[in-house]
Amino acid sequence: MDKKVIYVDNNATTKVAPEVVSAMLPFLNKFYGNPSSMHFFGGEVARHLERARDQVAFLLGCDSSEIVFTSCGTESDNTAIIGSLEALSGNRKHLVTTIVEHPAVKNTMAYLSKKGYRVSEIGVDRQGLLDMNALKDAITEETALVSVMYANNETGVISPIEEIGKIAKERGVLFHVDAVQAVGKIPLNMQKSTIDLLSLSGHKLHAPKGIGAMYIRKGVRMRPYLIGGHQERGRRAGTEAVPNIIAIGAACELAAKNIQEENTQVKARRDRMENWILKNIPDTSLNGHKEKRLPNTSNIGFEYIEGEAILLTLSKEGICASSGSACSSGSLEPSHVLRAMQIPFTSIHGSIRFSLSRYTTDEEIDYIIDKLPGVIQKLRAISPFSSKNMPSI
Ligand code: PLP
Repeated sequence: MDKKVIYVDNNATTKVAPEVVSAMLPFLNKFYGNPSSMHFFGGEVARHLERARDQVAFLLGCDSSEIVFTSCGTESDNTAIIGSLEALSGNRKHLVTTIVEHPAVKNTMAYLSKKGYRVSEIGVDRQGLLDMNALKDAITEETALVSVMYANNETGVISPIEEIGKIAKERGVLFHVDAVQAVGKIPLNMQKSTIDLLSLSGHKLHAPKGIGAMYIRKGVRMRPYLIGGHQERGRRAGTEAVPNIIAIGAACELAAKNIQEENTQVKARRDRMENWILKNIPDTSLNGHKEKRLPNTSNIGFEYIEGEAILLTLSKEGICASSGSACSSGSLEPSHVLRAMQIPFTSIHGSIRFSLSRYTTDEEIDYIIDKLPGVIQKLRAISPFSSKNMPSI
C-alpha cells in the first residue's frame, strides 16, 4: 500500500512485530511437524511450543503449566467463564460482571442468563470507574463467578482488579479477568494476584490474529470447551497452531522487554497529542479517568459532529483511528461504554478513540495535530447538530 498510514487504532489490532514474524516463519515452512508426533521432528516442535508457553508465563508472572493456548481473546473469555462454571460443584447460579465489558464477555453473560444464571451488571461513574460499593453488595452466597475487564478497550480505564479479587476471594467466588487490552501494556504478576482466570489475545500485543491464551490458576477446575484430543493437557483440544503460538511467545517476550517504554514514551506521546487537542480544539472532552488509564489510549469527544464523519475524513488523510470498539463501530449504535458513563449524546456521537503503540512516532503525532483541527472545523461548519457559530481553530 502506497498511501501514508498513520495507525492509531492499536486497541483494535496491532502490527505484527518484525521480531515476531522472524520467530514464527520457520514454523510455517521448516519445522512443520505436529508437536504430538512421536518422532524427533514433532518433538523439536513440541520443545519450541513449550518455550513459547514459558515466554507467556514469564510476562504474566505465573507457572508455564497455568497457560493454555486458544485461538483468540473471545475463545479465552468464553472458555474461562463457561468452562469454569461447568466444573464447579454446588448450585451457585449468580454471576457478577460490569456494564462496560467487551461483547466477548457481555454476550457470554447474556447466553448464561438464558441458561438459568442470574447476572448482575455493575455500573460505572462519569469517568468510567466501577461502582465498588455496588460490586461488594452484589456478591452473595449464590455467586459463582465475578468477571471484570482489566482495562476497557474503548476508554482504557483500568479496574481496581486486586481490590475486586480480594472481595471475591473472601466470599469464595471465582474471579475471571478479561485482560486482552492490559497484557503487554501494564505489568502483571499472577503470583501476587487474586486472579483465578485471565484472558489474553495475541493480536493486541504485536502477534498475529488467531491466537490467544488463558491463565488458569493451579487448582482451578475447568471443563474443556473444545472437546477432542489431549492437547493442552486436555484443557483445549485441537492440533496446536504452532506458528501462532511461537508468535505469541515471541510477542510476550518483546512486551516484557518493552513494558517500561509503553509506560514512558508511548504515554508521553499520547499525552502530548491529547493535551494539544483538548487545549486547542474547542468543545472537546476526555472520555475516561485521566490517570487510571492504559498509557496508550485516548478517547476524546468532539461535540456537534458524527464520529463516523471524523473517522472517514481522517482516513482520507491516512489517519486510522476508531469511533469505539472495532466490533461496535460496524454499527451506528452509540457505544454502550460511553452510554454507561452517561456522557452526553452530543459528545458520544463525536467520540474518537486514538490508541498508540510502541511504533507510533513523534512525527505521526505531529501529523495528527496538524490535520485534526482542519477536519473538525470543516465538519462542524456543515454539521446538522450545531446551531451555534463554531469558533475558528
Ligand atoms: N476483550 C477485550 C477487552 C477486547 O478488546 C477484545 C477485542 O477487541 C476481545 C476481548 C476479543 O479479543 P479477540 O479479538 O482476540 O477475540
